[in-house]
Amino acid sequence: MMTADSKTAGLYVHIPFCAGKCVYCDFYSMRAGEELKEKYTEKICGDIKKSPYVFDTVYIGGGTPSSLGAQRLADIVKSARIVPGAEVTAECNPSDTGREDIPFDFGILSAAGVNRISLGLQSAVDGERKLLGRRAGRDEVSRAIERASRAGIENISLDLMLGIPSQTPESLVRSLEFCVNSGAKHISAYILKVEPGTFLAEHPERFDLPDDDAAADMYLQTADYLASKGFVHYEISNFALPGYESRHNLKYWKGEDYLGLGPAAHSMIGGKRFYYERDIEKYLASPQPVYEGEGGGAQEYIMLSLRLGQGILFEEAEKKYGIKTDGEFREKCLEFARAGLGECDSLGFRLNSKGFLVSNSVISSLLYLLEK
Ligand code: SF4
Repeated sequence: MMTADSKTAGLYVHIPFCAGKCVYCDFYSMRAGEELKEKYTEKICGDIKKSPYVFDTVYIGGGTPSSLGAQRLADIVKSARIVPGAEVTAECNPSDTGREDIPFDFGILSAAGVNRISLGLQSAVDGERKLLGRRAGRDEVSRAIERASRAGIENISLDLMLGIPSQTPESLVRSLEFCVNSGAKHISAYILKVEPGTFLAEHPERFDLPDDDAAADMYLQTADYLASKGFVHYEISNFALPGYESRHNLKYWKGEDYLGLGPAAHSMIGGKRFYYERDIEKYLASPQPVYEGEGGGAQEYIMLSLRLGQGILFEEAEKKYGIKTDGEFREKCLEFARAGLGECDSLGFRLNSKGFLVSNSVISSLLYLLEK
């Protein structure tokens, strides 16, 4: 029941199940049978019910949430106290949603309150998808989008990967055209990072990987193309039609409260950061949050705000975080702007697409000044 003193937060639920392992993936995920899926769903529903929050955003991610089946996902959503008008997202794998023999019922999700679907496209070129270890093809992605729309879920986000094996600027155009023509309102475009321990890291000779410069060019190509189609580059790796920015993910970047449930899920509540270990058995038996320390300070503000299109807002930086934004700090921002990496005016400093590519060194320079 919602009470006057219920606190509002975002809710992230990690579903650590996948049918296989993509070659680049280092997320916490595993194969699971029906018994484990059932047990896990019950545990998560119980934990959500016990939490003292009301949620204005919900994000069910993974892993592959849709591998639980629509009914279990609906049960998870229904166990949360959700404010009217909340954004409720479920990540789905098109393989779980586009097959005629195992139809995934978006109607069940829609009836439970899910109003946003995130689909892992990665590439609209089936050969590229196969190299990544993705099971579904481009047609299954199209069918999943159609089915979700027919069920009344029109806020669709697609994940796209840049710099993947065999990708070229020409093949990327095909993926970008597919994304825009599919009616997606939001596109997440990530440059592939080869993570230690993944199949890709251990067998690089089997893949024709574009080099860093080629991947950076594809990132700029993506930003230009999507801008020409009306998408706003509102975060380093995220593009949205106006009004369709991910409200849940914005909480991460704006330092707002969110509760993460499930193994490997992170939280930030009341200025404290904590997470659950990557261990499903421990989570099922007795989840103990591991405290990571304080969050939401001046350093974090600089790191997170420069991920966003809106950038550092000088007034907010000064009043809320005590950051001295005049003098050397302002001069450094102007220097980056003169170098073509962003804009600096009386309101703030923000990076453009070129600046996002070198955001780590921009952030390091500003943090250095902060600590001086
Ligand atoms: S579907 Fe997603 S979480 Fe699962 S293995 Fe592939 S990339 Fe990793």
